[in-house]
Amino acid sequence: MKIKEIHIYAHVLPVKNGPYVMGHSTVWALDTTLVKLVADNGLFGWGEVCPVGPVYEAQHSGGNRAALAEMASGLIGASVFPVALRRRMDGLLNGHSHAKAAIDIAAHDLLGKHLGVRVADLLGGAVTENVPSYYATNVGDPDEIARFAADKAAQGYPRLQLKIGGRPAEMDVAVIRKTWEAVRSRGTRLAADANRGLPTRDALRISRECLDVPVILEQPCNTLEEIVAIRGQLHHAVYLDENMVDTSTVLRAVGQGLCDGFGLKMTRAGGLQPMATLRDICEARSLPHTCDDSWGGDIIAAACTHIGATVSPRLFEGTWIAAPYIDGAYDRKNSPQVRDGHIRLNEGPGLGVVPEEGLFGDPVLSVK
Ligand SMILES: [Mg+2]
Repeated sequence: MKIKEIHIYAHVLPVKNGPYVMGHSTVWALDTTLVKLVADNGLFGWGEVCPVGPVYEAQHSGGNRAALAEMASGLIGASVFPVALRRRMDGLLNGHSHAKAAIDIAAHDLLGKHLGVRVADLLGGAVTENVPSYYATNVGDPDEIARFAADKAAQGYPRLQLKIGGRPAEMDVAVIRKTWEAVRSRGTRLAADANRGLPTRDALRISRECLDVPVILEQPCNTLEEIVAIRGQLHHAVYLDENMVDTSTVLRAVGQGLCDGFGLKMTRAGGLQPMATLRDICEARSLPHTCDDSWGGDIIAAACTHIGATVSPRLFEGTWIAAPYIDGAYDRKNSPQVRDGHIRLNEGPGLGVVPEEGLFGDPVLSVK
């Protein structure tokens, strides 16, 4: 099965009750990019890439569309088998893993439809039909966040991620301590994610002043060097997220013991095929991790849920999807949604999500 046509679409997803505030940025709406691959047998598959604004990591929507345009004509006639396709993309363009991920996801959707199986099964086999999720809060007022977190824990979320950073450290200490008091009786797991937003001074203080709270510190500081410099003085497990820019960097972090787990992002990794490699590396060293992405619509959500369903349950920290935070389902019947803190795995074939015809308007680029 070969790629016959590539269509690229731009689409806006508004943030519900916006904006969403993180340590480094404030987001009102998402500018997402959809890719439709049509194969020579007439089947088609969908992919997506959607940055949470241009500041969260080194990608932006216009850049992703330019990278896809750069590769598009060279991909006509390419095999849809994921490893061969990744090599073909690497031969056309260096880097730009986010854009390549959209092609990779579409190829998995296409292959699943061709074989009549779900993407989770292509990736090694689902170990659950009900994928655990986690809720990520805003950077907000400690009492409000604690109340909100207690509500989410009561809804069934097994894990909560508190956004911290970008403000006085005592506010972050108060968020962590008050939330823990509000959810501890339920056994809810807690992570505090600074999204690179803490000076080492504040990361050390927060860890010292939350000594008795079993919270994971996710990506506390901007660079790997800062985190490595203070890791021995922290009292909490450290997960890496934004610094894990490719498989080689994850291998370095695992090999040198620089962290205790990861927030893994599918499009940063380059799509589902490299994500499955990262999953297996983590399993080899018993390192817990998430399987998510930085926002996106139903295609990203479905792809993250399918890979999440294949992770060993003892190591899985959940799949985060943007559905509770944004307006705009692509496929009203099969839009992945969080219920009782979990996401039901779509039945497929492929991703099990088919965007409504014409929803994204005319393509910004079509290559045949
Ligand atoms: Mg994170």
